[in-house]
Amino acid sequence: MNFNTIDIKGIVAPFSAIGKVFEHPKTVCYPDQTKVVSEGYRGFHTNVLADCIGCANCQEICMNDAIDMVSIDEDRNDRNKSGCIPRIDYGRCCWCNLCVDVCPPDSLKLGIECIQADADSNNFLYYPKDK
Ligand code: SF4
Ligand code: SF4
Repeated sequence: MNFNTIDIKGIVAPFSAIGKVFEHPKTVCYPDQTKVVSEGYRGFHTNVLADCIGCANCQEICMNDAIDMVSIDEDRNDRNKSGCIPRIDYGRCCWCNLCVDVCPPDSLKLGIECIQADADSNNFLYYPKDK
């Protein structure tokens, strides 16, 4: 047997995985547990409907076409002449914050709330409301 050709590291390295058994898990049992989000985390949008003027600036700036303007009857303020509010598609959004930057009354923000997992993809089409 030629010991110069034996890959000792390759033989021993897989056993280092045993140590992982005793480490604290990196994942959580959602939905019983949720992760604590960091300061400045970009979660789902919030929109103060009392201030939103329905201008669609947010929709126009979105490079991912993640926003469409949807007509509402309730929660509409007198300055919202279009009668529409933004709806966000989180299958498209990349949380770039551009829509927030161009919102004239600062009604649109990124909050810290988010759905971490959901069996119904329609729940990721989201109407930001007052927060
Ligand atoms: S955060 Fe960016 S990608 Fe998401 S809706 Fe706003 S502009 Fe579009
Ligand atoms: S959220 Fe802001 S940018 Fe979007 S329609 Fe309302 S006021 Fe305009």
